[in-house]
Amino acid sequence: MYQKLFILATIALSAVNAHPGSHAVANAAAAPATTFKFSETFPEAGIIPTAKPEWLELIKNVEIADAPVYKVGNGLGPQPEVPGQDPYCDWTFTGCLAKDDLYKCPKGQWALTYDDGPSEFSPKLYDYLDKVDVKVTFFMVGGQVVKFPDYTLRAFKAGHELAMHTWSHNYMTSLTNEQIVAELKWNELAIKEVTGFAPRYFRPPYGDIDDRVRNVAAALGFVPVIWNFDTNDWAHASEPKAYPQSWVKSNVTQWAKDAPSASEGGVSLQHDLYAATVDIAIDILPILDKAYDLVPVGVCNNVEMYKDGNSTTAQPSAPVSSSAPVASASVSPSVSAPSTSPSTTSIVNDNTVTPESGAGMAGVSSIGLGIAALAAVALL
Ligand SMILES: [Zn+2]
Repeated sequence: MYQKLFILATIALSAVNAHPGSHAVANAAAAPATTFKFSETFPEAGIIPTAKPEWLELIKNVEIADAPVYKVGNGLGPQPEVPGQDPYCDWTFTGCLAKDDLYKCPKGQWALTYDDGPSEFSPKLYDYLDKVDVKVTFFMVGGQVVKFPDYTLRAFKAGHELAMHTWSHNYMTSLTNEQIVAELKWNELAIKEVTGFAPRYFRPPYGDIDDRVRNVAAALGFVPVIWNFDTNDWAHASEPKAYPQSWVKSNVTQWAKDAPSASEGGVSLQHDLYAATVDIAIDILPILDKAYDLVPVGVCNNVEMYKDGNSTTAQPSAPVSSSAPVASASVSPSVSAPSTSPSTTSIVNDNTVTPESGAGMAGVSSIGLGIAALAAVALL
């Protein structure tokens, strides 16, 4: 099933990659006029950048897990060297979480998180969030921040949390340690230049993270944020007929109904990269707002989202030990797609669960291969 899932994912991802990846859509639009002037000369958007030599000093003499640099290509994401084994706590392989990973809120609270922006569609979402007075967390791609500095600053000044989503939005476990440094530090620098504050938190694209990525990130002072509810909004944006908006809404409605009995709150995955996903965001927010206290992810986890606002130079943290899988609450990457009944949650209370064996997969198998592929790649 695992291989099958990825073959299916390959089909969809190939289409995505052959025709612009998720960011190319926004990149295709002309950047709005801005008076903002960056002092830094940033790398090209969408391309894996090179680290500054001084940044690489931060990972010297740091214990880093010896996980492979996975090969990806032709739409195929990283795959375990030995199927079924996960020696490096890879979230997309097994839902493995390390002790410092953030991925949920306490019972009664819910964090709305939006990835891949800012984009030309972000202001519509900002307007709506202002109107309903809800604060959220944006995981911003470095190249997008440089393209849309005014939007970035607007989101920050509105009181939303800004965090990182890497510079080029590649699979992080497919990058060398040095490339991981570059992806995060350029992303940090872009946000720091605009806001004056260096973000501390990042979300790995596709949720693709293992202990090697965690160790490198920790050496730079960065902490990962995953999610425990996937709206699959991206699937709708990609194939609106195959993945109708009503499915997204049905899932979210169920999450809201589950609020009284749920043992913990949610961190949901959405995107502000497409017009369609912004429309979904506006459509579903009131549903969750009635059931949960909507707060940014840093607030519900009681953490400071930014480093010292006056410095972009991370202080190396103590050597990071290999992170142990969290036994109590694993989260499976959601591939949920409602068929006759909406999936209720992407949380799977089984720490051995794999993406292909989670509850969501049963739903996928019942609705056809195309949706399975879409759902499988909706882990952005
Ligand atoms: Zn993303």
